[in-house]
Amino acid sequence: MTQTDEQTDEAGTGVTPSRTDSAEGNPRGPIPTGADPSSADVSTSGPNRPATNPGDDDDRDTATERYDVVVIGAGPGGYSTALRAAELGLSVALVDEGATLGGTCLNRGCIPSKAIITATHAIGTIRRAAEMGIDATLNGIDFGRLRSYRLQVVDTMTKGLAGLLAHRGVTVFRGRAGVVADAGSAPEPAPDGRPKTDPVPERKVRIERAAGADAVERFVRAGVPEPLGDAIDLWTGAVVLAPGSAPRPLPGSPFGGALI
Ligand SMILES: Cc1cc2nc3c(=O)[nH]c(=O)nc-3n(C[C@H](O)[C@H](O)[C@H](O)COP(=O)(O)OP(=O)(O)OC[C@H]3O[C@@H](n4cnc5c(N)ncnc54)[C@H](O)[C@@H]3O)c2cc1C
Repeated sequence: MTQTDEQTDEAGTGVTPSRTDSAEGNPRGPIPTGADPSSADVSTSGPNRPATNPGDDDDRDTATERYDVVVIGAGPGGYSTALRAAELGLSVALVDEGATLGGTCLNRGCIPSKAIITATHAIGTIRRAAEMGIDATLNGIDFGRLRSYRLQVVDTMTKGLAGLLAHRGVTVFRGRAGVVADAGSAPEPAPDGRPKTDPVPERKVRIERAAGADAVERFVRAGVPEPLGDAIDLWTGAVVLAPGSAPRPLPGSPFGGALI
C-alpha cells in the first residue's frame, strides 16, 4: 500500500497507527516520556510516524516510543530495509551510531573508492589521449582537490539518503543500539497499557549515546537533530539487525598491521 491520507490518524496528529493498531482500534497517544513534546509534532514529515507511548516502562527516566520495525545499522542492508518497510506502510526507526548515514559503503567503501577510481580513469585517459588524436597533457594532480571531490561525492550521497529516508517517513536515530528485552523479560503490561496479547512479541531496543556524541539524536527531518538525552527505548514487534561485519583473525594468526 502506498502512503496515503487513509494512513494518517483521525485526530490529525500525523501519527500513523501501525497495522496492529488499526486492526485493534487502538489509538496511541503522542506522549514521548521525558522527550521534548514538540518532537511529537511530526505531521509535516510523513505519514509513517511512530506511536509514542506513555512511559509505563521499567525505566521511568528513559523515553520510549514504539515502531512497527526497528532497523539497527544504516548501511545498504539497513537503509534499504527501512525504505521498503516504510513503503509498505509500517512505522520505521533506523538507528546508526555513525555521524552520517550510509554505513561502510557510502562513507568509506564503495562510493569514495569509486570517486577515486573515476579520477584515476581520467588520468589514464589523458595519458592515452594522443592515441586517439587528442592533444592533451597532464600537468599535475592536486591531491587536496581530489580529496575534496571525494568528500563532496560522499556528502551528496549521505545527505541525499537522509532526505529520502525523511521523505519516506523513516525516523532516524543516532546512537548505539542493542536489543535489551524480548517478550520473555518485558514488563507487563505492554508499553501501550494493553494486556500482552499481541501475536507478535514486543521487543525493546535501547539506544545509548554514540561515542563522541553529546546525546542520542532523533531526526524526523533530514539534517535537523533533536537531542534526546543519554538513552531512549524503542518498543517494536520486529528488529532488523544490519550492523555490518568486522574482520576476524584466524586463530593463532593475529592481524599485524601491514603484515598478514
Ligand atoms: C574499500 C571498500 C570498497 C567497497 N566497494 C564495494 C563495491 O564497489 N561494491 C559493493 O557491492 N560493495 C563494496 N564494498 C562492500 C560494502 O561496503 C559492504 O558490503 C556494505 O557496506 C555492507 O553493508 P551493510 O549494511 O551490511 O553494513 P555496513 O555498511 O557496514 O553498515 C553497518 C552500519 O551499522 C552501524 N552499526 C553497527 N553496530 C551498531 C549498533 N550497535 N548500533 C548502531 N549502529 C550500529 C555501523 O555504524 C554502520 O553504519 C566495499 C567495501 C570497502 C571497505
